[in-house]
Amino acid sequence: MIVMKFGGTSVGTPAAIRKTAEVVAAARDRKPVVVVSALSGVTNQLLAAAQDARARTAPARELVRPLRDRHRRVLGELGLPRRLVDPDLAWLEEALHGIYLLRELTPRSLDYVASFGEVMSSKVVAAHLSKRKVPAKAWNAWDAGVVTDDGYTEAAVLPETYPAIKKALAPVLGEEVPVVTGFLGRTRTGERTTLGRGGSDYTAAIFGRALGAEEIQIWTDVSGIMSCDPRIVRNAYTLRHVTFAEAAELAYFGAKVLHPKTVEPAVEVGIPVRILNTFSPQDEGTLVLREVPDAGTRAAVQGLAVKRGNMLVNLTSTRMLDAEGYLSQVFEVLARHGVSVDCLATSEVSVSMTVDARYAEALKGATRELRRIARTTVSRGRAVICVVGEGISTVPGVAGRIFGVMGNEGINIELISQGASELNVTFVVRDAEADRALHALHATFMGQASA
Ligand code: ADP
Ligand code: ASP
Ligand code: MG
Repeated sequence: MIVMKFGGTSVGTPAAIRKTAEVVAAARDRKPVVVVSALSGVTNQLLAAAQDARARTAPARELVRPLRDRHRRVLGELGLPRRLVDPDLAWLEEALHGIYLLRELTPRSLDYVASFGEVMSSKVVAAHLSKRKVPAKAWNAWDAGVVTDDGYTEAAVLPETYPAIKKALAPVLGEEVPVVTGFLGRTRTGERTTLGRGGSDYTAAIFGRALGAEEIQIWTDVSGIMSCDPRIVRNAYTLRHVTFAEAAELAYFGAKVLHPKTVEPAVEVGIPVRILNTFSPQDEGTLVLREVPDAGTRAAVQGLAVKRGNMLVNLTSTRMLDAEGYLSQVFEVLARHGVSVDCLATSEVSVSMTVDARYAEALKGATRELRRIARTTVSRGRAVICVVGEGISTVPGVAGRIFGVMGNEGINIELISQGASELNVTFVVRDAEADRALHALHATFMGQASA
């Protein structure tokens, strides 16, 4: 069997849904389980609607209207019953009304509201497949076995999920195509949860592992993992083979094409993950593997990724010279305030680190305490650039070449860190200089002038 996951753009319009159905129909003899995201933009709309309900910007009825219109229009254009997802929209409206009345929005209610995107898209896609004579049935992830903890908005899947999925879906494989909601789960006590933004990729990997898939296919709007985000570097090209470790680094540092957690369940059991283009299904795409076949001959640097909008925190203190436990003190403060650190570099007297902008509030509390032990500065608007490739550990001079390129461009590097895996060189520049840095690096390492 295989798992085929279709992202938001692959189910965002009637034309895209038709393409998706063609791809699924062509793979029927491989016994697919289909995982779908919400229609493109719908998760953002749902999250915004929840915030608007809390702020009483508009009544629930009005907040639901654009979502109702969009889903009805898509259903109508596909020749399906326009009211197919009306019952879900009614539940959504009630939830938003509750938030409106109470003026309270908890992470739990946020997840409940967000869940409707995938609940509806799975019904639309299953109905369209069935109409095209590919018998299919929509499944909510929790009915198909997904159980999570109560880490709302970023829930973790519990181990009982795996046998439960097998029990639920193994009997129907090859009979009718299950179309499962990505991104969602439910706690043991029955509350809906989400797995974090972009989490449908993760869902695909979980189902692939539970069902012992031959392959997990991630169908999206680009032909694979590319040497850089094609929206930034126009002549970025598709990478044929990428190792799990490289994919994880690229994803973690901003290559949105693959959710970081995706690789975990797949890597544990060695299931290959293939990234493919719904709108150009004949393209070979990218195969993500434990080891690549051309390891000996490929270039040291495979990909570039960027994560913008970070804060750069610098701590300077001479205490670090002789005081044991200084660093552990720093991290104790950060942990207590719930601040998570992405990149870190230390020298004799200073510590530099990057923190995602979403921790801005928490960081304020932490810096108040840190100022007692070190001179602390926080700069905003920083980009983390990550240069990734298995060969970086074996080919000498990659870091030197990177810094040479940045020097020629007159771009100041504010922090450098080389991961313990020696698979990446990561450094920090100002957000405004990130695109220029990527163009120059792409031209240097990928051997092509970039646009
Ligand atoms: P989906 O909705 O199918 O999950 P996403 O929007 O999450 O799709 O991810 C696909 C997008 O990721 C692409 O349209 C592309 O702009 C972006 N992207 C960023 N970095 C890369 C990269 N290195 N390779 C391919 N795509 C990338
Ligand atoms: N719909 C969810 C999101 O936008 C999950 C996904 O698309 O993977 O984050
Ligand atoms: Mg995605």
